[in-house]
Formats: sequence, structure tokens, C-alpha cells
Amino acid sequence: MKRELFDFLNTDLQFIKGVGPVLATRFDDVLGGRRVLDFMLHTPAYVRARGVTECVSDATAGDVITIPLLVKSHRTGGVFRGHRRPTQIICNDKMGNTVIIQFFNVNFLDYWLKKLPVGQWRMVSGKLENGARAVINHPEFIEEMQNAAKIPSAQAVYPAGLGLTQKTFANVRDQIFALLPEKLAGADSDITEFFDALRHVHYPESDADLGPNSEYVVKLAYWELLAHQSAIVISRRTRTDARNRRTPRPQRYNLMDKFYAALPFSLTDAQTRTINEIFTDMARDIPMMRLVQGDVGSGKTIVALAAAIKMAETGGQTALLAPTDTLAQQHYAKLRPMCDKIGVVCDILTGRDKGAPRREKLISLRSGRTKIIVGTHALFSDDVEYKDLGLVIIDEQHRFGVSQREALRTKGHNPDMLALSATPIPRTLSMTIYGDMDVSIINEKPAGRIPIKTTKLPIARIDALVSRLRLQIDSGAKVFWVCPLVAESDTSDMTAAHARYDALKKIFPHAGLVHGQMDKKQRDTVMAQFADDNSDMRLLVATTVIEVGIDVPRATIIVIENAECFGLAALHQLRGRVGRGNMQSYCILLYGNNTSTDGMKRLDVLTKTDDGFVIAEQDLIMRGTGELLGTRQSGWINYHFVDYAHHRDLFKLAAAAARDMVAPSDTVRDLMFIFDRGVGINA
Ligand code: ADP
Ligand code: MG
Repeated sequence: MKRELFDFLNTDLQFIKGVGPVLATRFDDVLGGRRVLDFMLHTPAYVRARGVTECVSDATAGDVITIPLLVKSHRTGGVFRGHRRPTQIICNDKMGNTVIIQFFNVNFLDYWLKKLPVGQWRMVSGKLENGARAVINHPEFIEEMQNAAKIPSAQAVYPAGLGLTQKTFANVRDQIFALLPEKLAGADSDITEFFDALRHVHYPESDADLGPNSEYVVKLAYWELLAHQSAIVISRRTRTDARNRRTPRPQRYNLMDKFYAALPFSLTDAQTRTINEIFTDMARDIPMMRLVQGDVGSGKTIVALAAAIKMAETGGQTALLAPTDTLAQQHYAKLRPMCDKIGVVCDILTGRDKGAPRREKLISLRSGRTKIIVGTHALFSDDVEYKDLGLVIIDEQHRFGVSQREALRTKGHNPDMLALSATPIPRTLSMTIYGDMDVSIINEKPAGRIPIKTTKLPIARIDALVSRLRLQIDSGAKVFWVCPLVAESDTSDMTAAHARYDALKKIFPHAGLVHGQMDKKQRDTVMAQFADDNSDMRLLVATTVIEVGIDVPRATIIVIENAECFGLAALHQLRGRVGRGNMQSYCILLYGNNTSTDGMKRLDVLTKTDDGFVIAEQDLIMRGTGELLGTRQSGWINYHFVDYAHHRDLFKLAAAAARDMVAPSDTVRDLMFIFDRGVGINA
């Protein structure tokens, strides 16, 4: 890739005018990265029409309207008898209807008041609030009448987050795309075309430009798949390359007998089969690259431990990588007692470890004393050295891209890699998604599990449900209450969760709330409180942010509101938050009044089976109706542009192109860099 373009895409967003370090950190949370490139790959969710309305009674509450208003008077806000009152600007529309503009806690109130002088007409644009009176809070645009055209008639709306407004997004986008042409000068034509398609998606004229069948999205999806498939092909070729062959490690200790003796249960047949497959891989001259797929609760952790103990028999070390601190802690708590029994040193390292304790942990790792280290990405920080890293285990693998896997591999000498995933993938897709890996499937649950009872319930019955919950909670149950992702919009999912939380809090005063617009630390704190057996928080209202793999054994009930809006894979994942202890668990699927036949069918699948693989196949068959939210984020792998339901042919095309590739072209290298952090420029 051209140096200028590469540097530009890698630029930290804090160097964009009007951003700075604070906003850049917020972008990091929302985009999962803070580079210009991360911004560019985060495209608008929909287009908001801001048509001009002459008369407020023509609009419905909730509409975003642009309306000429005559300012009648200002009423300054403040605190009156303990109540905070907003500043109000009383206006009339052309028909003489009253429209009130409100500002809450505004810093530059004078500035806004000057923009709305009494006796003058202004073109105002914002969302018409629900309620008896016509109210617009904090209008997004206020223009003098002769400048009314400055208010866009269609506006791209980005999935935003805490402290990031649509204005900020638009500002960053405008600057990036203004700078882009000079950075692109001299780039090859495919890359130019790529960024051109990206520009169209950032400046959509209608929702159709953003949909899976938009010519721009189709192009971008193809390129994304090509990048991914090429990375897979390269990874596979490198791994099997004769020059990378290794001598299998000789066994130096005997630990497996102790492992089996320490097991508190007997393994299922599927676990035994998987362990054998892993051991066979570990004895080969090609490094292992194996994915273990097994539904939630199928017992993957013990399989991982078996592999780690096998590695310890050779004197080698194992790193077990979890996606979050909380999950790392959970793994450690489970593994440590068993390791103690076996006599293998097991430790944990996360971002929380600082100073002297951290240094000690690092020394123990470097000396080779620590044989199993559990942790987060911190395990691969620059200052972490291993004596002999032989095995890397990645839990919940779908969060890691091909290039991350490559990066981990460089910490050891061609270590074995084992990935664990609780997301069943239809067999037909797993080859294309994880084409560089061998797959073991644990399709059997430990004996004695009590299946989760799943029922569907119309929303009208919510009061009866809440009464029953109260009884359950009083007798010690913990409840997840999942609120719908209303749309991939700025704040609406947060609002829905907030509204439900407020209502439930009246009945359950200790209820907690987590949502995507909270920062990660805050979220972790609430989650930990909910998981804590001694805490009074027995009910947790959440958007879909509740972690994959989070283990709260006393959580026996999950309520999923507007379940008809979720895909099967997502519902199944959510349901897996309960049923983790030895008590009967329940999943209640609340559905709305306007649930379609297809929506009902999906819920029926869930009530009939809890076999993740059956559900995954059904999911693939039933997709494509276009009514599901967030199909791009299907839970299998997080693509930016690819949509399984609509782009199946592109999969085949991209896979074929990658397979036939002798060596990656410059374009393919660039695409791999764009879509997969780290691969590309130096590859
Ligand atoms: P997951 O596949 O979701 O990671 P875990 O490894 O966390 O599942 O296992 C879930 C629970 O089942 C754990 O408490 C574990 O100790 C238990 N378990 C695992 N294998 C068996 C087995 N063969 N028999 C009984 N219990 C088991
Ligand atoms: Mg697990």
C-alpha cells in the first residue's frame, strides 16, 4: 500500500480536527479501534429523512421534522422547588400551533438563545417528542430562513454511543473524505474503487444504498470476503509449508494420569473424542490449528485443560486467552484447583495486574515455572516473554481475526493453536469461515443436565410474568431481562432498556442495568455485582451486551423482550446465559403484538430444541426475510459488510479467487490490511 494512504488510514482519530483525546477514546469504545480506518469501516445504519413540514399537526411524535417557526418568547430554566426545569423557547408554526423548543443543562445557552431571537422566523430541525404538547428538545439544526437549504434533507445516521453525537460523526466523516483524494493519488484502480464505494456508503442517498443489495455494499462485501479468504489461504499455506515443519516434542513428565484422577466427573464420549483429536494434532510435525465447537455447557474448558496438561508433560507452556477480564477470572477460578491437584503451576495475568505483582508473574513465566497462564490480550503485550510457549488456547474464538491468531503465534515457536467456540456454525459455512482450521464438534452435553424450559408469551401477559418473577426472586433466583435492540440507532436501544429498567425498579428496587452506551468498566462492575451471590441485585436489565460465556450459576431465568426481533443464533446464545447450575432454568420469550408468522416460527424452533447445531442450520434456512435486525452481526463472525443471507454467492466467488491465488497481489495485501488489523503491509 502507498505509504501516504497507509499512514492516513492508521492515523489516530484524536488528530482529526474537533476530536481530541477524550472523543477518540469514545470512538475507540464504539468502533473497536481509534484509527481513521476504524471510522471508515463503521458505516451508517440508516438514512433519516428530514422533510420540511409546514404544520406541526402533520407530523407524528417521534418524527424528525424540519419546520419554520416564529419565536414568541423565551422562558429561562433553572431549579424551582427542587425540580429542574428546562429552558423553553415558545414558538408558533405557520398555522399558529404552539411548538416548544427545550434545552436541558446547556453550557452555551446564550449562544442558542441568540440563534432564536424573539419575533423572528427560523428553520428548525429535530425530533418531535412524544407527549401532549409539540416539543423539540435540543434541535440539531437552527438556521435563518435564507439559509434553510443548509439543513440536509437526508442524513446518514451512525450507530453511535456514549457522548458521540451524529454531528461529531458527520464532522469526522467530512474531514476524512475531504482528505482522502490526495492520499489516494496514484493508488491502483481497485483500491480507488474500493474507497469510492466506501464513500457512497458514508454519504447514502437512501436506505437502499446501505442495504445488502446496494451495488456499493455488494462490492465492499466481496472485497471483505476476498480479504478474509485470502488470509485463510495464506495462513494454511504457511502452517503446512515444509519449511515450518517441527520435531514433535518429547514427553518429559507423566501428568495425564493425575489429570484423570483429578477429574470430578467422567468425560462424555464427545469430550474424549475431541481430546484424542487434539492429542493426535499435538504429536504431528505441523502445528495444530483446531477449532472446538460445542454448545454452551458442553464442557469445553476441561478439554482445554487436558490439552494444557498434555503440553506441560513436555515442559511446554500454555496461554489461555479469554475475551474479557471477567471471563479470564472465571477460567482461572475453575482451573487453578485442578492444576494444584495435578501439580502444575497455573497463574492469571490481565490488564489489572500492575507493578511488583505483575513483574513477579512475568518472571515466573519467563523462567518457565508457570506452565499455564490464563488472561486477556495482556498475555501478548510486548513485555510478556515465555520460556517455551507451546500451546495457545483462544476462548470464544469468533472475536479474533486471522491476523490476531498469527500475532499470537509469534510469541512461541510455531505453537499449537486451539480455539474454543460456543457458537455453533452450520457445517456448510464453517469451511468458508474457518477454512484454515480443523474442527472438532462436541455435540453432547454432560449427563444429568436439566434442559432449559423455554416458553413464548405475548407481551400483554407481562404483568402476570412479573408477579411470577417476584416469587422466584424472593426464593433466591436471579433473572436476566434482555431488552430489544430497537434499531442500530443512536440511543433507542438504550432508551428501551432504560424505560424497562425504570418500570421494573419500582417492583425490584435492587435491579441493575447494563447497556452498550455504558463504558466498559462501569459495565463490568454491574455484571460482577449481579454475579456476586451476596449481592441484592437479583434482576439485571440488559441490552444484548451481556457477555458470551458469562457464568452466573444462580441465574435461572432469562426473559427476552421482543424476542421476535432477534435471530435464532442470537436467541440461542442469550438463552445459554442460564441453565449453568444444577437447578431448573427457564427462558421466556416475550413477543410483540405485530409478530409475523416467520417471527413466530423462529420462536417455535427455540421452544422445541436446544441443540445449537440444529438451530444454526434452521437459522441459515430461515434467514433472508429481511426483517431481522443486525444480521450483519450474526454472532458467527463480525463482518463489516457481509450478510450471510444475501451474499452467499459472494462467499463462493471469494473462496475460489483466494484458492486460485498463487501469491497475493498488492490489492489483496491492501485488502487484508484494511479488513484484518495487522496483516498486509509487512506480510
Ligand atoms: P463450556 O463448553 O460452555 O465452556 P464448561 O467447560 O464451562 O462449558 O462446562 C460447563 C460445566 O459443566 C462446568 O461446571 C463443568 O465442570 C461441567 N462439566 C464439564 N464436563 C462435564 C462432564 N463430562 N460431566 C459433568 N460435568 C461436566
Ligand atoms: Mg466456556
